[in-house]
Amino acid sequence: MTPIAAPATLPRVICDHHAPRPGPTLIAVGGLHGNEPAGILASEALSRRLHNSGGLACGRFVALRGNLSALAVDPEEPSNNPRYLAHDLNRLFREDDTDRTPDHAQRDALRDALAAIEGERTGPVYLLDLHTTSSDSPPFIAVEDSLPARRFAERFALPLILGIEEDLHGLLMDEATARLGAVALTVEGGRHDSPNAVRTLEAVLCIALESLGLTERSWADCFDGREPLEITRAAASRHAHRVYDIRHREPVSALPYEPDPSAEPFDRVRARRTRIAVQEGSDLLSAESGLLFMPNKQRDIRVGDDAYFVVRRVGWIWLRLSAWVRLRPGLHALLPRILPGVRRRRDHPHDLLVDPEIAAVLRREIFHLLGYRLVRFETTPGVSPVRRLARAVALSIHATVVIARNLISRGSTDDAHEAGDAEWIVSRHTLDRAAHGPD
Ligand SMILES: [Zn+2]
Repeated sequence: MTPIAAPATLPRVICDHHAPRPGPTLIAVGGLHGNEPAGILASEALSRRLHNSGGLACGRFVALRGNLSALAVDPEEPSNNPRYLAHDLNRLFREDDTDRTPDHAQRDALRDALAAIEGERTGPVYLLDLHTTSSDSPPFIAVEDSLPARRFAERFALPLILGIEEDLHGLLMDEATARLGAVALTVEGGRHDSPNAVRTLEAVLCIALESLGLTERSWADCFDGREPLEITRAAASRHAHRVYDIRHREPVSALPYEPDPSAEPFDRVRARRTRIAVQEGSDLLSAESGLLFMPNKQRDIRVGDDAYFVVRRVGWIWLRLSAWVRLRPGLHALLPRILPGVRRRRDHPHDLLVDPEIAAVLRREIFHLLGYRLVRFETTPGVSPVRRLARAVALSIHATVVIARNLISRGSTDDAHEAGDAEWIVSRHTLDRAAHGPD
């Protein structure tokens, strides 16, 4: 049932601390979802401590409320609040969505607030979008996989999830990177109603202030003598410092949708074997093998919401190698020549057009390694592992021939082309491009 829109009476700004000395700006956003007050409570707690301890050494820390319309339904009892009124605010930050619902009005107001803060910057801008989860998950950070965002995220000792922006469009995190040039992270502090979630998110904010040089004080007194990093590390337990890559996202496609109570985050799941939920009376089985991630256990589940994700662990060798190759500008210029089925996109120097067959096979392993994300593609129906392997072998042989031919003939595959309907577009991460200048 869609709740009735409430007047937005809450103030947008939770707190705003300036130091006389210039420096980085840290923006925290809490309550982008109406039923997730933990980020607001963490920001308020930290703000009180800053007031009592003489404030910042440099730069600015400003915290904002997210969806005021959803938060204002019952400010006294946040657990009564809806996640959103009609549209998930954390999917609305896209240029092609021009609806005018109360959630869209919140998006526009938040955009204006962020632009105003960005306009007053005296250094780099960082954004932490603070959330909580419906299931009892360890805290984690989701990040658009650019090298600056990866470096920032590593400071929190929380598990790091790469690639979420390919499956979820219109995230605030994306908006902050694209419009503000900010290094932006989505932080999930734990289950909505867990007191530990507020504590974890406050520790995350303390680590951010400290690592960006905004404060020089110790925060151990906030956490009973423990450093904030000890708090996040303990909350993440065995997942601390681990990196995972999204392999699959499944949307809710029909109602009623009853999550399987035994399906917990980071449980091992097997393709077509593990039950995640009962959807419209039938078992919904995992589409991929890996680890279950963010199984949807919200009270109010709607068609189109995320049902679940599957992630897999990423090894440190892959991470180091990808950091190395992304900083080789000459390599990006060569890609249309050395990869089969890949061409440069006309008037978009950082985009490539990719044959869908090739993209399906190379998507995770090659394009992510090189620092590209899919920005437009058609999903292909499930392909059996045997057929996928056969196709990969055939493409590898084809690739070798094409590479050899192109190198000998200095081929013409890098001719500029406009995107055809059948082609996938992959684009280099904005922050990676900025990291080593023009290429
Ligand atoms: Zn959320």
